Amino acid sequence: MGHRVGHGVSSTRTAGLLGGVGYFDGPLPAIPRVDPGWQMARVTHQVLSVVSRNQTKPGRTTQPESLSLLAQLDWSESHLEQPADEVAKQLVDALKSIFSASTALPELIEMGAHRWRYAQPANPCEHTYLYSTNGLALCGDSFSSGRVEDAWLSGQRLGEALVGRSVQ
Ligand SMILES: Cc1cc2nc3c(=O)[nH]c(=O)nc-3n(C[C@H](O)[C@H](O)[C@H](O)COP(=O)(O)OP(=O)(O)OC[C@H]3O[C@@H](n4cnc5c(N)ncnc54)[C@H](O)[C@@H]3O)c2cc1C
Repeated sequence: MGHRVGHGVSSTRTAGLLGGVGYFDGPLPAIPRVDPGWQMARVTHQVLSVVSRNQTKPGRTTQPESLSLLAQLDWSESHLEQPADEVAKQLVDALKSIFSASTALPELIEMGAHRWRYAQPANPCEHTYLYSTNGLALCGDSFSSGRVEDAWLSGQRLGEALVGRSVQ
C-alpha cells in the first residue's frame, strides 16, 4: 500500500489562543543590555507570553513598530469569550507593565485582537510524527509547540523515515 501523509492534523488536545496586535508611532524603549534590534521575547507574565516585532521580519523595514502579542494559554482559555477590544487592551497593558512606570512608551496608533479556538497543542506529543504500518502518516506543528519550525521539523523527520520505503 502507498503512503498517505496528513499534515496539520492535530494529534493532541488543543488549547485556544488569544493574540493581539499593536502599532506604535515609534520604536519601543531600549531595554538595558538587550540588542535594540531584538525580534522576539518570551515573557514571564500572567497575561502575556510572547512579544514579536513584525517590522524586524524580512522585507518589513518600512513598517512602524508593529507587535504581535500572544497571551498565556491558561489566560487565553479563561478569556476566550471576552470581546476583542478588551482582550487587545489587556495585552497592551501587559506589555506596558513590563517597562518601568517612568518609561514612556511610543504612542499607540492601533490595536486589535484575534481568537484561535484550537491553536496550540496543550500537551506536546512524545513523537514528532506518526507512521502506521498500513501506510498512514501524520505530521505537523501540533506534535511539538505549535510553531512553523515544529511543522517543518515534523515533516522533515517523517520524510526521512519514509526514504527508502515504497511510495506510490
Ligand atoms: C495568524 C497566525 C500567525 C502565525 N505566526 C507565526 C509566526 O510568526 N511564527 C511561527 O513560527 N508560527 C506562526 N504561526 C503558526 C504556523 O502558521 C503553524 O505552526 C504552521 O502553519 C503549521 O503548519 P502545519 O503544516 O502543521 O499546519 P497548517 O499550516 O495549518 O496546514 C494544514 C493544512 O491542512 C489543511 N486541512 C486541514 N484539515 C483538512 C482536511 N480535513 N482535509 C484536507 N485538508 C485539511 C488545511 O487547509 C491546511 O492547508 C502562525 C499561525 C497563525 C494562524
